[in-house]
Amino acid sequence: MDNLASSFDGKTVAVMGLGKSGTASARALAAAGARVLAWDDQAEGRAQAEELGVTLYDLTSADWSKIDLLVWSPGIPHIHPQPHPVAEAARAAGVKLVCDIELLCAANPGARAVAITGTNGKSTTTTLTGHVLAGLGSPLAVGGNLGVPALDLPALGLDGTYVLELSSYQLELLDQARFDVAVLLNITPDHLARHGGMPGYVAAKASMFDRLPAGGTAIVAVDDLHSAEIHLKQSHRKDVVVRAISAEKSVKGGIYAPDGILIDDSEGKAIEVIDLRKVASLPGRHNWQNACAAYAAARACGMEPAAIAQRLATYPGLRHRQELVAIIDGVRYVNDSKATNADAAEKAMVCYDRIYWIAGGQAKEGGIESLCPLFPRVVRAFLIGEAAASFADTLSGSVTYEICGTLDAAVHRARDVALSHPGEGAVVLLSPACASWDQFKSFEHRGDVFRDLVNSLSGERSAA
Ligand code: ADP
Repeated sequence: MDNLASSFDGKTVAVMGLGKSGTASARALAAAGARVLAWDDQAEGRAQAEELGVTLYDLTSADWSKIDLLVWSPGIPHIHPQPHPVAEAARAAGVKLVCDIELLCAANPGARAVAITGTNGKSTTTTLTGHVLAGLGSPLAVGGNLGVPALDLPALGLDGTYVLELSSYQLELLDQARFDVAVLLNITPDHLARHGGMPGYVAAKASMFDRLPAGGTAIVAVDDLHSAEIHLKQSHRKDVVVRAISAEKSVKGGIYAPDGILIDDSEGKAIEVIDLRKVASLPGRHNWQNACAAYAAARACGMEPAAIAQRLATYPGLRHRQELVAIIDGVRYVNDSKATNADAAEKAMVCYDRIYWIAGGQAKEGGIESLCPLFPRVVRAFLIGEAAASFADTLSGSVTYEICGTLDAAVHRARDVALSHPGEGAVVLLSPACASWDQFKSFEHRGDVFRDLVNSLSGERSAA
């Protein structure tokens, strides 16, 4: 990003953490004339960054009186569960810790920023909002916590819009950043050790709304208690527009879709915008919440309801989130590899009635007990990875299962069994309710392997 140049000439900036976003920050700052002191606790991160031309400097022994700013990688804990010595030393010397989003906003004060957070649905809502806003035809950049790191995004001027996915970790590392539109989807317990408990996590999410300038728009889903409380607090503000959204109920003056029909009641009269049940790439109530959020954000950016509806209808979907890979011999193959815990798997399972379920991997706390009410939807389970035996215990007596071991074996067995049962609506669903690391590099890798396996199956294909 070349427009960092003017603000960083002659400054000394430390960069801690050299993953994707930290390396992008170090390079952008160096290109902008800053003296960059870059470091990572891990030798591997340091080596990779060095290969990309980043000069290393051991920040554990830095003289912080000579450093203007510390750009911190959000993934590295700095206060909880233990204070990080580098962060402590910087703070003690009065050096601010910020993340790359802060630099992006500072460098592009004219561009509009739409920021999206929530425990779940951030990536879907960010890409969906980006897809919708592309309909405006003005310059647009989508990234942040998802996809392209902030400082690899292009510089945008007055006519440009950033759509940014923000994690709670990034929100904690902002100072002056302002967002014209701030979206909160939901809050459920997550990352608690990192935030020192639930109040810290909720406070990080709520801090989004401290960043609205006068005239900005707060969009808050009111479907869980924490978010509803935040909405209530915001709704007393006079300086910003506050818009409630819901996938559970009608909300006066809000945008909602409890039955799958998106209704806009923001202008004094409830109008039906789109039947989301007909949008195959947005299955399930959770996606109706995401669609309401994207709609509300696009309205705040001045887009007309009909134009937004058209764009929602053409959303291509996001890989690994209930991604329909193929329909072969009438059986649907769905890649939901992103479902790394039972909560996420539940979101997919409620969408189908005849599931040939591929599950397992590295188990999460609580296993799949919470999914028991959905077991009647599972015709048979095909278990893989480390969790296979414990999942089998939970399924035992309720669902027929096979321990397949590998994803390859599971896909082939699921196909054979699904084809041996005549009838409509069969879905081979990879929704593992587990982390992937016992057998794969990442959930993306697991989903890619599933897609390749499905694509190599023989049979008659129908249009997906
Ligand atoms: P994130 O980026 O916050 O992890 P994603 O959009 O990648 O969210 O979705 C991850 C998983 O979270 C999905 O596979 C789905 O199971 C679940 N999910 C998506 N949207 C929502 C939502 N609005 N509410 C609850 N769960 C959701």
